[in-house]
Amino acid sequence: MSVIRHDWTKEEILDIYNKPMMDLLYEAASIHREHHDPNTVQVSTLLSIKTGGCPEDCGYCPQAARYHTDIEGNDLMSVQQVKAQALRAKSSGSSRVCMGAAWRNVKDGPEFESVLEMVRTINKLDMEVCCTLGMITENQAQRLAEAGLYAYNHNLDTSEEYYKEVISTRGYEDRLKTIDNVRKTNVTVCSGGIIGMGENVEDRAGMLVALSKLSPQPESVPINALVAVEGTPMEDEKPVAIWDMIRMVATTRIVMPKTQVRLSAGRTEMSREGQAMCFFAGANSIFAGDKLLTTPNPDVNEDMEMFSLLGLIPQKPFVKKAQPETVESADSKFESMGEKPKWSRPDHTIERNESAKNNAKKAVADK
Ligand code: SF4
Repeated sequence: MSVIRHDWTKEEILDIYNKPMMDLLYEAASIHREHHDPNTVQVSTLLSIKTGGCPEDCGYCPQAARYHTDIEGNDLMSVQQVKAQALRAKSSGSSRVCMGAAWRNVKDGPEFESVLEMVRTINKLDMEVCCTLGMITENQAQRLAEAGLYAYNHNLDTSEEYYKEVISTRGYEDRLKTIDNVRKTNVTVCSGGIIGMGENVEDRAGMLVALSKLSPQPESVPINALVAVEGTPMEDEKPVAIWDMIRMVATTRIVMPKTQVRLSAGRTEMSREGQAMCFFAGANSIFAGDKLLTTPNPDVNEDMEMFSLLGLIPQKPFVKKAQPETVESADSKFESMGEKPKWSRPDHTIERNESAKNNAKKAVADK
């Protein structure tokens, strides 16, 4: 039986990543079968509840206000809109709804109260609820837990070293701090990263070292392939080769045997054969729905066709952990504290982020 290790070294992980493909697949698939049903895949629906206008400068993200992309921004959706979308997701086979808001951090106030109500509403539909709202304080994490939140997503994105080449408006330790705040509650952690941002293989291994060190390891690890969006600093990055995706999924499975490994952004560029190899290598979760926040994703009917072809079954909700109870806002034992998460702001700039920002300013001026 494979053991859960928190002391992986980068060298050990690189040795796994670079194994001959057949050995890598065999080892990953064997570990996968020890801990999971290989024919069950969790289906989540990602809902952008507030789109665009984000003050951060993540080099991969079309929602950063400073870049010139053609996404349509939206204010926070209403609870009723979210409920309608969640019901639609449930009827098409999703067991989890993940709500994403393009915020740097959560601010206490009416918008956060609304998000708490969305969490209560979806939990009462007997679906797992996940949120990705940026940095949160311990008090905010407690309030989300009390509302019935099942998971909080906060990606490490890449290695600590390469993070400085991707985002200048916050540091790696800020990410770890929010994850730590979530860990003080009964909410599960979803944290992973993106490949294809110009990082090297050592950075991919470095990210897995950081994730596997977390104790407990994240219950869910999304592996994204960069979707290079025009106007962002990463618009010219080359598409990720399917073999890199398979290696990354397999290595994640070996390093974190119990984790749910989620095949996330970039699936529209992957063939069914490629996705099948990823499922064999240990991926056991996908995002459904034709959009992943702002980037394209396969149509849900196409996914269900693929499931039927491969004999895969969507995972029921609350299989891995019991459904949290929802506390109504009137009975809450937590008060809003109005705290702001403290973050470090490394005093550096990133050349390609600055140049994308300047191009965006020029495009607006030329209009
Ligand atoms: S990834 Fe999130 S934090 Fe970064 S710019 Fe996009 S919305 Fe903002």
